[in-house]
Amino acid sequence: MDELPELPPPIDTTAQDIVRNAARLAALRRTALLDSPAEAAFDRLTRLATRILDAPTALVSLVDENRQFFKSCIGLPEPWASRRETPLSHSFCQHTIATAEPLVIGDARMHPLVSTNLAIPDLNVVAYAGIPLVTADGQALGSFCVIDSQPRDWTTDEVEILNELAASVVAEIELRSATREAQHQAEIQHFLAQVSRVLVDSFDAETSLQSVARLAVPLLADGCVIDIIEEDGSRRRVAATALDAPTEALIAELLQYSSLHDMPRPLAEATRTGQARLIPAAADDRSTGATQHSEYLRVAHALNLQSGWVIPMVAREHTVGVITLISTHADYPYAGYDLIVAQDLAQRAALAVDNARLYQVARQAIQARDEMLAMVSHDFRTPLGVVKGFTHLLQRRVQASTMPDKETLGDMFTKIDSAIQRMVYLLDELVEVTHLQAGQKLALPHEPTDLVRLVRRAADEQQESARRHRLHVQSELPELIGLYDVVRVERALINLLTNAIKYSPAGGEIHITVAAESDTSGTWATIRVQDQGIGIPAADLPRIFQRFYRAGNVGSIRGTGIGLATVEWIVTQHGGTVTLESTEGVGTTVVLRLPHMPYDGDDLTWDR
Ligand code: ADP
Repeated sequence: MDELPELPPPIDTTAQDIVRNAARLAALRRTALLDSPAEAAFDRLTRLATRILDAPTALVSLVDENRQFFKSCIGLPEPWASRRETPLSHSFCQHTIATAEPLVIGDARMHPLVSTNLAIPDLNVVAYAGIPLVTADGQALGSFCVIDSQPRDWTTDEVEILNELAASVVAEIELRSATREAQHQAEIQHFLAQVSRVLVDSFDAETSLQSVARLAVPLLADGCVIDIIEEDGSRRRVAATALDAPTEALIAELLQYSSLHDMPRPLAEATRTGQARLIPAAADDRSTGATQHSEYLRVAHALNLQSGWVIPMVAREHTVGVITLISTHADYPYAGYDLIVAQDLAQRAALAVDNARLYQVARQAIQARDEMLAMVSHDFRTPLGVVKGFTHLLQRRVQASTMPDKETLGDMFTKIDSAIQRMVYLLDELVEVTHLQAGQKLALPHEPTDLVRLVRRAADEQQESARRHRLHVQSELPELIGLYDVVRVERALINLLTNAIKYSPAGGEIHITVAAESDTSGTWATIRVQDQGIGIPAADLPRIFQRFYRAGNVGSIRGTGIGLATVEWIVTQHGGTVTLESTEGVGTTVVLRLPHMPYDGDDLTWDR
């Protein structure tokens, strides 16, 4: 048999880089063979190698960044046979990985690559022939080798036989990987089906998301946290699940550094960009750069944080939540496929949250419409009663031929007319709300209007039905004439005045101030309405202008939550702003700021 030339030694640092290559290590971990028990399928091949090649020892050796693990070892001395692993200081196999070529050594004691390797004194390795175990996608996981305690010349035939056996070992490994992958995919399909079922089961998104988080652990991650992004941009945690209680506590602690100023960058970035973000391992330098937060790092280390994903839940181009998946195991398969699954999960969850929100809005709209109809029919009754009363009176008088005098008759018609006007106003308001709900923009007819007079008149009208309240109008200007959509500005004003009255159930002073202010952006007409009523709880203030939103302290005071939204809409249509300040139990101040468009003529539409 021919002698084989020995391979030249690889460059050391390059060899180390190849052994520690992250993709190689990930492929190795995905096999799930590290630290697994001995198995007959592999032992059969090593035993066969020792017999055919007449060598005392054969190994299936898998090389990670610190050690070589023997999936199979025949003929190894103790204590190595029981330990089934050695440090890399005792590894010849690591060199086959560096070159991805067979390594054939006749006498290791003379070989420049391994002459100082501790396997020679400790494991009695003198002759060595190893074939790298290279998978179909090109990753060298370890080697299949035979060892002799005597120097020997390996023949080409022997190396070829070893090659064949190594190919069988690779086939065995790949078969297992394929089976595992198929099982994993089946589990994933089952998981996604369960997720869909849970999410369509109810419109209560929170409860559904809690079930989803429980399903995701441990299949997708060791910990799963789900936050909902509210419409005002705030974040609310709705689910947090982990493998065990200590992990759950640590994950909660890790994510607590997630207030807007302080949060680990992946969470903020995923929320802002709508793109999935990787949470780096605790040991990764990038995590230091990402947070500059020593507490975060302390918890990340305690958790043994390996990696994680923050995946935004995006529906109709809005981020409605984020799912955080945390892994605390080094061998977690967080690569390609599982990220796709996690994104699929996030998309399903996003749809569920969005649907729940739409459902909620639809329900509120129906409820508001019902309340609105109830209120309108109630409000119609008074003016209708006036029309009906005077009509009956006139009928009776006509029948009795006792027509009232001209002045009394005129008075009756004025009252009928103003009752009709009131009903027209109510109808207009109904139409306005419909437009507002449909999000339509209306062309506003701007007409010359004296805001001081408009405010006084509206306050006088409201005062008539508010016996326990005192409405004071203050204006340093005798008049403030500008171009406004008079009907809508009046509607906005009446909404504010009725709110000031009805949310001060104990009565009190209501101050209304009209003024003109100038700043660099121009001249503004301001109308300020200040009451001493129940106020609005601070927690409700951010959402108070939202349609149908009502504060938590309204008790039995009737309302629909449409008024302030209408006010804001009217004011912004004018190019103005509305601000509201309120302290619960103290009172509320609302300020309308309308751009002042002066008018010189004297044709006041509102007064006609
Ligand atoms: P509605 O009064 O019909 O409920 P609005 O849109 O006018 O609807 O007001 C929305 C909510 O804002 C009210 O339900 C109430 O909680 C709060 N609010 C508005 N104005 C006042 C006020 N002057 N004082 C206290 N709360 C107010």
